[in-house]
Amino acid sequence: MKARFQAMVPTNLDVSELLARRADGAEGHWGRALRKASRAALYWEEEATALVAEDRPLTELYRIGPKIERLMLEWFEAEPEIPEPDATRQGFMTNAHARAVVAAHPDWRRDINGDLQMHSVYSDGELTVEELSTACIERGYAYMAITDHSQGLRIAGGIDEDELARQADEIVRLNADLSLREVEFEVLHAMEMNLAPDGSGDMDPEALADLDLVLGSFHSQLRKKDDQTARYIAAVRNPDIQVLGHPRGRQYNFRLGLTADWPKVFTEAARLGRALEIDCHPNRQDLNVELATLAYEAGCVFSIGTDSHYAHELDFISIGLATAIEAGIPQERIINFAPADAVRDWAASVREMRRPA
Ligand SMILES: [Zn+2]
Repeated sequence: MKARFQAMVPTNLDVSELLARRADGAEGHWGRALRKASRAALYWEEEATALVAEDRPLTELYRIGPKIERLMLEWFEAEPEIPEPDATRQGFMTNAHARAVVAAHPDWRRDINGDLQMHSVYSDGELTVEELSTACIERGYAYMAITDHSQGLRIAGGIDEDELARQADEIVRLNADLSLREVEFEVLHAMEMNLAPDGSGDMDPEALADLDLVLGSFHSQLRKKDDQTARYIAAVRNPDIQVLGHPRGRQYNFRLGLTADWPKVFTEAARLGRALEIDCHPNRQDLNVELATLAYEAGCVFSIGTDSHYAHELDFISIGLATAIEAGIPQERIINFAPADAVRDWAASVREMRRPA
């Protein structure tokens, strides 16, 4: 392992792993600070070693105080071995890496039309629909999809059919206002419906039929260790969803996520036209490069969503783009690269396949 460092400088991913290892042996406040810093290393936009090279303090980085800065500088000096990551930390990419990949493929950031997963104040997001639209317009998008949680997910302030209808009215008014002001941007009304482990949803299908797009995601029983293929097959067969959201339910250094016979699940999703979400959140990355490659080979289409709950999280789109680029997925397979009307048409065509044989 030592040889590795003679050839390369430690990346933020290496730093994250070292911080996580150090946290395992630490207690109390110090342990928590190390664990948070380990996770934050995935968020940083620049490589920590690049800051050192420019004589900038590491305390510029999110969650890094003077004590952890000293530790990191010691590591950069001593070139410690980087152990094989724990299973809950395998197969992630950092934001700094993703940004470098996207910078080398500028057409991807230019041509993506919108972000297809975010949460507003209707459920557990920080911003109103209008504030999110402003943030997305600033980022050069042509559209965004509002995907608040559904009623079954009470912990995240999930909304019922009445609130969904109220939100629909607000989005109609906002879109009319944008069009009046000749802003070329529209809000797609969507939802992240909570799926029970049997693949069923928690909303009246009629309420969902009026939406531009419906994601379906699991948020419970995510620590099951046995094979969950049946659960996923049921999810992609759910007639009311078009996108399977954050498919694994994993979280960096916290939860391994579910396992399934992925080629089998992806083949069924492709057969039924359901898209798989590339969730851009650094902590999630359910479809990492490895799984995204398998899904692409199975013939799936993809939806890229940041799963943002705060404005700054919208910039994690780089992770989704870099995942698609590294998995060799062409833009034609990703619905975010289509215009808004084509996204609606696509969702309508998937709905027509609603009763699988
Ligand atoms: Zn979710």
